[in-house]
Amino acid sequence: MTSPTSLTASPLSLEQVNLTFHPRRSLSLELSTWLKRLSGRPAGSHGIQAVRGVNLALKTGEILAIVGESGSGKTTLGRLMTGLYHPDSGRVLWAGREVAGLNNKSRKNFRRRVQIIFQDPGSSLNPRFTAKAVVEEALIIHNLGSNTERHQRVAALLKEVGLPTEAAGRFSHEFSGGQRQRLSLARALALDPEILIADEPVSALDVSIQAQIINLLLNLRTRRALTLVFISHDLPLVRIIADRLAIMYGGRLMEVVDKSLLGKAPHHPYVLSLWASASGGGNNFILKGEPPDPASPPPGCPFAPRCREAIDICHVEIPLMTNFNPGFACACHRRRSPTEASNR
Ligand code: SF4
Repeated sequence: MTSPTSLTASPLSLEQVNLTFHPRRSLSLELSTWLKRLSGRPAGSHGIQAVRGVNLALKTGEILAIVGESGSGKTTLGRLMTGLYHPDSGRVLWAGREVAGLNNKSRKNFRRRVQIIFQDPGSSLNPRFTAKAVVEEALIIHNLGSNTERHQRVAALLKEVGLPTEAAGRFSHEFSGGQRQRLSLARALALDPEILIADEPVSALDVSIQAQIINLLLNLRTRRALTLVFISHDLPLVRIIADRLAIMYGGRLMEVVDKSLLGKAPHHPYVLSLWASASGGGNNFILKGEPPDPASPPPGCPFAPRCREAIDICHVEIPLMTNFNPGFACACHRRRSPTEASNR
């Protein structure tokens, strides 16, 4: 893997990003009334706080893993990075400019350079399109190449992701799950992205196929000098493949750590619990209880109700992310950087 400390800043970054979903807006009146009767309060009255206060800058050429349990906000964060979602507050920046404010030309360029593949490739592929049409669509939208050039390009892309030439004429339902993920990769690569966001790209696949897709992703990343954002709940896997890990909980970043510092940094209590759960050891650190309700998160640190190190302040004050050194940052009242500690 690349040494993260030798990497330069990528054009994509997030500053104090917040996003809350308001289910009530999308619920029918009947369903909303039923939920209100059931719970005693309007459905989604406060909204689902999916992402809160996230600051994160990608580094060119790295593999950044965004890790967390289900509902931690990692998928929403990936979609914010691609411009599929826009933050309620805070900024997603591309080359120093806010993505939400890009003009048509710049937005088109942004869409070319930042691509995403999803956990379930089947649902993101048009069932009425052949594989050729799926991959060619983006080239047509972006007005790239003549008919002949596009035809050649599609053939080269299918080959690059390990699909046979005759696959071009098949429909997505005629492929296996692994082949569908290869096809969605070919589509994502058609526009020569700089950044590829892979949202749980193997969790819907058979175990026997997962390693093939991971190897393909790693090879593509090296061959094309991609910056890869790998969203996953699989800590042991990302520990192997990632250069840097960003761990989320309750919509917030808990820790950002270079792979080289794993096991050496003063890790966040949640991260210690995750490691222990993943390795099946250390009863003291095994997670108990449930993640916070994103519609009604606790005041203070979101991990406080489950944290064995919690103190009074944890229940009232949200801990800020503190940079310990260029390779480690942590949001915890019980973890202080040496500089911060000497200033107190
Ligand atoms: S801030 Fe407090 S509750 Fe949160 S992880 Fe740190 S010690 Fe635990």
